[in-house]
Amino acid sequence: MNVHSAQAAYSIAPAETAQIAVAHGDGIGPEIMRAALRCMHAAGADLDIHEVVLGEKVYEAGHTSGILPDSWSVLRSAGVLFKGPVTTPQGGGYKSLNVTIRKTLGLFANIRPCAALTPFVASNHPGMDVVIFRENEEDLYAGIEHRQTDEVFQCLKLVSIPGTERIIRHAFEYARSNGRRKVSCFSKDNIMKLTDGLFHKMFDKISAEYPEIAADHWIVDIGAAKLAASPEMFDVIVTTNLYGDIISDIAAEISGSVGIAPSANIGESFAMFEAIHGSAPDIAGQGVANPSGLILAGAQMLGHLGQQQAASRLQNAWLKTIESGIHTADIYSEEQSRLKVGTDEFADAVIERIGELPSLLKPVAVQGRQDAPVIAPPVRPAPAKRCLVGVDLFVRDTVVDPDNLAVRLIAATQQCAAKLTMITNRGVKVWPAGLPETFKTDHWRCRFESNGKDLKQKNVAELIMALSNKEIEVIKSENLYTFNGVPGYSLGQGQ
Ligand code: NAD
Repeated sequence: MNVHSAQAAYSIAPAETAQIAVAHGDGIGPEIMRAALRCMHAAGADLDIHEVVLGEKVYEAGHTSGILPDSWSVLRSAGVLFKGPVTTPQGGGYKSLNVTIRKTLGLFANIRPCAALTPFVASNHPGMDVVIFRENEEDLYAGIEHRQTDEVFQCLKLVSIPGTERIIRHAFEYARSNGRRKVSCFSKDNIMKLTDGLFHKMFDKISAEYPEIAADHWIVDIGAAKLAASPEMFDVIVTTNLYGDIISDIAAEISGSVGIAPSANIGESFAMFEAIHGSAPDIAGQGVANPSGLILAGAQMLGHLGQQQAASRLQNAWLKTIESGIHTADIYSEEQSRLKVGTDEFADAVIERIGELPSLLKPVAVQGRQDAPVIAPPVRPAPAKRCLVGVDLFVRDTVVDPDNLAVRLIAATQQCAAKLTMITNRGVKVWPAGLPETFKTDHWRCRFESNGKDLKQKNVAELIMALSNKEIEVIKSENLYTFNGVPGYSLGQGQ
């Protein structure tokens, strides 16, 4: 869907009844879901709804995933989920249901359009019309975290070649089929040279296949700053999971309100539509929440289901309502608004305007699935020639003296096939030739290398055994491979 791109066109054949699963969600979820469904039905949506209970109630019943085992079959047979926001309980022992659904059902692309609605909704950026493509399955959201020592906790950041390729390709395909002029990549590859470096390199490779679309790359910190200050500079943005999560909230908020932005989560065989905001417990039950994010997500979903006519009617009635100055509290202002309304009154106003087109904001013709880019299955790289040239052994040691630790490590591993070459603490080289100023914890990465010789897995096991025999505790190991001669591991900071 392109919010501002096309003239309204209502000449599409009637679509079949669509099967969808609906989860009302927590907090403001039930209020805004009721409003969104009323508007969708009034616009002519033809839906067969299968309700599923997700979130708080399921967590409270003792299911730490937030979803009942039986609900998966309801979701899979519907193929589409329309979801209200759910609350993730604080504290350990609970997993985010949103992340679980996105990953379990392979929803790799999270598409978040954010466009200004000036002069009807206050925004400092009247020209803003940005679509963010957030990679939805990988990165720090792999959810693999460990406490390794008394002092140090770890979260794994995983970025794959196929995962990176398909989100970037999807962003370019979307740009091509929606008449967008530019795709920008945000990464932090000056620091994370392997993971974010892969994302940037893949972006450069794929952008060359789309010469008609401009492409640029921004380090995420300055990119986010520019997005907040001058969003008109951007058109389509593609980025990894965490950065995408953060910048899409920023983009939604500066376009008017976080309550307005929808989100489509797309996979090869399943799709989920929701608002980008959360369950807003601070205003739940008051009837004041803005249902717009979910209404627009509903329009995205109807387009995806082939009900473009209903989708366009819904979105144009929504634009007309906004243009008429009928606003919920989050976007209400004395200057721009005419009437402050609650959730249900806002839905009533949209329903009254079904069939109307906005006069000043551009009307839309919501795209359907047949116009959407084809999502190619991920391309898997040919296996490289791998050579095991060393291992990083992570050691817990409370003496906090790297020279002392190095002496003990070297003495313990004299008979082993790989030799100690470096010790780092939180990534900074502290041996050989560390500086006393460097702060150190009880968590040491000890690099053993074979000087290019191809090691066997048993050589790694011998190293671990040798340390264990001297009461040196290995808490984790990471093999060091070269791939076609290129090191698949980073240097220590200061190495
Ligand atoms: P939030 O988005 O729920 O709320 C942030 C602020 O925006 C609050 O002041 C809230 O009142 C306001 N707001 C949000 N939506 C609004 C709307 N439609 N109308 C008017 N104002 C709105 O973020 P949070 O407070 O950080 O998170 C609350 C809960 O939601 C947490 O449990 C979090 O895990 C969950 N969450 C769920 C989703 C999801 O289901 N996709 C997304 C984000 C957060």
